[in-house]
Amino acid sequence: MDRRRFIKAGVLGALSAVASPALQALPAVTTSVSAGGGSVVGHAGRGLSMRFFPYELQLRHAFNLARYSRTTTPDVQVEITVDGITGCGEASMPPYLGESVESVSKFLSGLDLGQFNDPFRIEEIHEYMDSVAPGNNAAKAAVDIALHDLTGKIMGQPWHKIWGLDPAKAPCTSFTIGIDRPEIVREKVAEAAPYKVLKVKMGLDNDKELVEIIRECRPDVPICVDANQGWTDRGKALDMCHLLAERGCLFVEQPMAKENVDDAAWLTERSPLPIIADEAVKRLGDVASLKGVYDGINIKLMKSCGMHEAYQMATLARAMGMKVMLGCMTETSCGISAAAQLSPLAEYADLDGNLLISNDRFDGVKIIDGRITLDPARPGIGAVLV
Ligand code: MG
Repeated sequence: MDRRRFIKAGVLGALSAVASPALQALPAVTTSVSAGGGSVVGHAGRGLSMRFFPYELQLRHAFNLARYSRTTTPDVQVEITVDGITGCGEASMPPYLGESVESVSKFLSGLDLGQFNDPFRIEEIHEYMDSVAPGNNAAKAAVDIALHDLTGKIMGQPWHKIWGLDPAKAPCTSFTIGIDRPEIVREKVAEAAPYKVLKVKMGLDNDKELVEIIRECRPDVPICVDANQGWTDRGKALDMCHLLAERGCLFVEQPMAKENVDDAAWLTERSPLPIIADEAVKRLGDVASLKGVYDGINIKLMKSCGMHEAYQMATLARAMGMKVMLGCMTETSCGISAAAQLSPLAEYADLDGNLLISNDRFDGVKIIDGRITLDPARPGIGAVLV
């Protein structure tokens, strides 16, 4: 086994040997390429150097969706450094996306970013990452976010300014209310008082009851509905869309299984509310085929492999007359602030993932009067370690 493979094998062996909670205690791993071309650990070579480590996110409330429930989210934090400047990124891996601390660590360990001297060559680095392995979207997003943070810091500007976006056009973010017992739902709605839009997760048998509880507590608040593929009958889904429209809802996200393209197109044609794709769209290549099937797309950095492709997806969707929503996983303010840089391009935003955890490592984008408020003085992704 050559030295490079030996080091990688050692790193992966160490990662796979430790159970999830203990992963937080693992030392950070650095991979880079020395001037001589050999891969070394813990040494910043002449090119980009990367460090990453697992960081388990603790949820304030158990998160209940139509298909599962959980109290933590696995996450990997990434730092990329060049010439003494460091950019931060992260990969958040809710289990249904199929990535894990182990898969992300394996993918990142296999990257040779030391071959790149220029962090601005983001397109080329994405092509390289896609050539290393397909999938691994969250792992690729972590690298992409760190590169955007790094290049923004080098330029001394935040990415919304680099993209030429007006921060005054950033929308309000919704605050998510998961499926739960009525008393917990009331508690969560009270907690969500500062937010001007609520998002409610549906897809079980108490959908109507959930809307009525929220309406009791907040008679006028706009409500976004996310069924997370939980509805199975398109006729009943249409009835529900009519009921939700009467109850002041704004749109319905992923009402039925992502594979049900014909049912989605049928519902979109008839629904009084916009129908937004979430599970049915991941990357840029998915967007064009969804025109006519959904009214809009929910872009998330962990699906789109980061900010580079998310910007292209938003631009394409708008050009095709589709609505743009920005969503997130449970993430620290690193990932959320990165997504927020794009928010002036979105009609709807659901960037509350950092508000749902109790161990945020970053101070980032602020929600003021319910609205995403970008700080033009903070370069890169606009988040700093606390
Ligand atoms: Mg969704």
